[in-house]
Amino acid sequence: MELRPTKIQLDGDNRLLIDWSDGQRRAISVSELRKVCPCATCREKRAQPPAAPSLGLPVLSLAEARPLKVLGMKPVGNYAYSIEFSDGHDTGIFTLDFLHGLGSDVPA
Ligand SMILES: [Zn+2]
Repeated sequence: MELRPTKIQLDGDNRLLIDWSDGQRRAISVSELRKVCPCATCREKRAQPPAAPSLGLPVLSLAEARPLKVLGMKPVGNYAYSIEFSDGHDTGIFTLDFLHGLGSDVPA
């Protein structure tokens, strides 16, 4: 059976609820989604070793300091969604398989 979302909704600002055609409902936090963004830029960033610690306190960029939100999701063909985040990032293509594997089950 082909898995597809039957319903996608935001639960507050920081959680995405997806109902799937197999009857599962899964919740994914927006920050988790952003962290696993599959676009080339993010994959490259994750592959790099963490930056050397600098002196003094770490400075959060404005985008990091603000709570991250999902501004929109657009279907890409019939196999994926592109997700627009409030930090301006929208190049990640999240395939349905990938999305379904994220997050955790919640009672529907
Ligand atoms: Zn990305």
